[in-house]
Amino acid sequence: MEDYTRHLVGNEWVRGSGGEYESVNPFTRSAWAVHTHASEADVSRAVAAARSAFPAWRQTSGYDRARLILRLADLMERDIDRLAELETRDNGKIVRENKNQIAFAARIYRFFAGLADKLNGETKPLDNYDTVDYTVREPLGVCALITAWNSPLQLLANKLPPALAAGNTAVIKPSEFTSVSTLALGEVILEAGFPPGVINVITGAAGTGAALTSHPDVDKISFTGGVETARVIAANAAAHMTPATYELGGKSANIIFPDANLDRAIPGAVSGIFAAAGQTCVAGSRLVVHADLYDEVVEAVAKRAQLVRLGDPMDAQTQMGPLAHSGHLTRVRRAIADALEDGARLVTGGAPPPGLEDTLFMAPTVFADVTTGMRLAQQEVFGPVLAVQRFRTDSEAIEIANGTRYALASGLWSGDITRAHRVAKELRAGTCWINTYRTSAAQAPFGGFRNSGYGRERGTDGILEYTTTKNTMIDLSTAVRDPFVLGR
Ligand code: NAD
Repeated sequence: MEDYTRHLVGNEWVRGSGGEYESVNPFTRSAWAVHTHASEADVSRAVAAARSAFPAWRQTSGYDRARLILRLADLMERDIDRLAELETRDNGKIVRENKNQIAFAARIYRFFAGLADKLNGETKPLDNYDTVDYTVREPLGVCALITAWNSPLQLLANKLPPALAAGNTAVIKPSEFTSVSTLALGEVILEAGFPPGVINVITGAAGTGAALTSHPDVDKISFTGGVETARVIAANAAAHMTPATYELGGKSANIIFPDANLDRAIPGAVSGIFAAAGQTCVAGSRLVVHADLYDEVVEAVAKRAQLVRLGDPMDAQTQMGPLAHSGHLTRVRRAIADALEDGARLVTGGAPPPGLEDTLFMAPTVFADVTTGMRLAQQEVFGPVLAVQRFRTDSEAIEIANGTRYALASGLWSGDITRAHRVAKELRAGTCWINTYRTSAAQAPFGGFRNSGYGRERGTDGILEYTTTKNTMIDLSTAVRDPFVLGR
């Protein structure tokens, strides 16, 4: 058992005092690392460390902050293999994908480093010639950064570098299912040379998260996880009016029009749902297919699903690993049972593959003849389970795509540029992919609305979430103003 009972607070490793918990490798199903929950007192210590580091950190130049963020990106890249392997041991995702994600994470750090000295304010030409007015973008203070288990370091890359670049300090809490890679990043953070307290890492489950997000000295929350947890956090945050960004789940529609290039659309559909075993917030979990192609597409996707190579996620040949933990497998199984009960037609999968019955694997699963009222069309599964729906007209496709409470991502496949843009305009989602799916970029803003949350990550929008605007007015005149009327 590896000892990860430490938290990083004020650049010191300290043991958490809230009791121990274990990381379980979902492939071997054995516990391999031990952690400690941060108690309320531990959370307060981490927040206090971040608070005391804030005044000096916000006064550093953007250039100096950028240099440290760039150094951290370099060190992450140096350690990609180790960090990705730790992450795979914790969440069971294939190591190739985790390496790719950590490389992307480093790219995002560099993007935000580049913005650290470009957070310009504006001067405002007021009605009164004698008054000079300017705005500045100020940091908020202590940021609580909470991540989900599916991609700990990549999700953190959407939060930590913009927070730091804007002059904030941070307390990070990864998921209790995947705490190791973020603690390993803590070692890299120390090596990068950030001043004490600028970045703090604590671990723990819901209790730790609740203590952090209801802490009166936290100035900003950035959360990635499920909508039910987000509701609890939003209620806690309301006590102190703490602003928050919520990156939540999805039930994203991937639409195939009759004029689509199926040689590209079918792999796009497969990657949309079976990459990372469907454990991605943007999973294209509803495939919405025109009636003329419906049977052909269902058959082709099911065939591809049957060819997915399941196995050891550390093996370079493996395409899909196990689900991340046993509670999650139970949840995915329940969604499959609900789909059958609601009358969806199981085309392939629906159970762990033969020979893997007592593991955390789930076979890539395709349900056809799904309708909008079914639970499979409404509830996020966060697993390798595809719901295929049928449409006849463009407006029907739009209605189906928009027919859930989620609004995170969407995709469409069409060779007709006019149709593609016309439909994209109507899709209710924070991201719309045309003739691609699950493509990400540091420059492109990402996020949702409705049950998918609010706020944006990445892109220039992403850094503004960690700032507030201060307006300053200077009266250059010598005139004495009437104290009883509004100055303008
Ligand atoms: P979760 O909501 O169970 O947990 C997320 C994090 O919240 C964990 O760190 C957890 O310890 C913490 N937490 C739990 N209870 C808390 C509380 N009361 N107060 C504060 N923190 C608390 O989600 P999960 O199962 O880890 O992740 C799966 C979900 O995350 C899915 O819905 C998925 O779509 C979503 N997700 C969204 C994005 C995105 O960017 N939109 C990315 C990845 C995952």
